[in-house]
Amino acid sequence: MTTGAILLVGAVARLRDAGIDDPARDARILLAHAFGVERSRLTLVMHDDVTPDQADAFERAIEARVARQPVVQIVGQRAFYGRDFIVTSDVLDPRPDTELLVDLALSAPFKTVLDLGTGSGCILLSLLAERPDVRGQGVDLSAKALAVARRNAAQLGVQARVSFHEGSWFAPVGAARFDLIVSNPPYITQNEMSTLSPEVREWEPHMALTPGGDGLDAYRIIVQAAPAHLAPGGRLLLEIGHLQASDVMDLCRAAGFSTVAVHQDLAGKDRVVAASGVSGE
Ligand code: GLN
Repeated sequence: MTTGAILLVGAVARLRDAGIDDPARDARILLAHAFGVERSRLTLVMHDDVTPDQADAFERAIEARVARQPVVQIVGQRAFYGRDFIVTSDVLDPRPDTELLVDLALSAPFKTVLDLGTGSGCILLSLLAERPDVRGQGVDLSAKALAVARRNAAQLGVQARVSFHEGSWFAPVGAARFDLIVSNPPYITQNEMSTLSPEVREWEPHMALTPGGDGLDAYRIIVQAAPAHLAPGGRLLLEIGHLQASDVMDLCRAAGFSTVAVHQDLAGKDRVVAASGVSGE
């Protein structure tokens, strides 16, 4: 028999050899996952004998991490805006930066919301969980992403107030109008893609990260079409790359939005463009 403590020593060495940034941290998270315990309880069970199932689960987790699969995908859940979301390699890992977009959305009333490129559904489903009187629709090009979003809707108990549609941006929603349109579209430039870590580049969905080229193509499509899908007084909230504020704000003004503002994330970087004040025609 062996113990978690003994397995941990070997695992940390393997992760270090694989070039993992913080091998001790990752090994502990993955051991807690294999044991099915909270990380805070790991020390209490570390010296117990491990079962063959636990040892197998830990071995599979370490092999995945050596192959640079992100910890979040191995563990399968990420906390976002105070709730747990299922995360697989079919969806973008919800980022803390994106919580700013949720905060801004909640700063004014709305009854209907559309999320373009919903991925895990983290933005849309957080909004529905926070506002029990709101109904929402989520669109994504990826059927596999939508399957994850549906599981998240069920996990959060908001499935009765949401519908998901496979397709490109506004195409699946017809002529419908919304009080709020949100999106965290792919915005990384073609050139930046090669600078990303293997965890992001090789394991997160390419189409969720970049539209190619200058990174602005998704904004060109969304912003131009948004006015025809906003109800009177409606708002558009877009997450942006931190160098894209002026380009995206220009697109918003060109599309007829009269109030356009940029908001900074906790690191002080430009992160969300908010646009409102179109006639709705
Ligand atoms: N809406 C999801 C998120 O914010 C997915 C975004 C995306 O895939 N680009 O995490």
